[in-house]
Amino acid sequence: MPKAESPRDQAFMVSVRDIARKPGAHKPHARTLPAPAVLGTEVIGVPEGSDLVLNLSLESVSEGIWVSGTVTAEAVGECARCLDEVTEQVVAPVQGLFVYPDARAGDSGDEADVYDFDGENLDLEEAIRDALVTALPFVPLCDPDCPGLCDQCGARLADDPKHHHDVVDPRWAALDALIDKEALTDKKEN
Ligand SMILES: [Zn+2]
Ligand SMILES: [Zn+2]
Repeated sequence: MPKAESPRDQAFMVSVRDIARKPGAHKPHARTLPAPAVLGTEVIGVPEGSDLVLNLSLESVSEGIWVSGTVTAEAVGECARCLDEVTEQVVAPVQGLFVYPDARAGDSGDEADVYDFDGENLDLEEAIRDALVTALPFVPLCDPDCPGLCDQCGARLADDPKHHHDVVDPRWAALDALIDKEALTDKKEN
């Protein structure tokens, strides 16, 4: 078993010696832990060290320990349309089965939400990571109706709903004309 590298890694460890091998026995597991590094996707994630609020129940079942409940955290990302900072409260459902070393079925290795443990201590980090990453939005938005940025000057349209450009930049107009001409020439050649 790999040794924990820092006290923070151990924060996710829970001893279940008191309920292991006693099907039906259970206990609550509620605490607030600092988020580990790199918890999220490229567009949104939970900042390292911010609060992860665990509200879990650990239940002894015949194959191991069934963990269920929620983890609540604040995710910070970037609006996919206007690039403003987005802060979102995430309440992720956690469900996972920690299987005793001697109860592992040959084909359970790839199963989602099934984790190995040594029979005495659960390491909840992977289960919590899986739950949170699944619950994060794929496309974070500052507002569902965010109008995004002006495609000509990059202005944030939500700040200036009447924003528009009457005059097309002459350099772009010249380029457009050139492209049109080329398109026409191509057509003639074909
Ligand atoms: Zn936005
Ligand atoms: Zn503009």
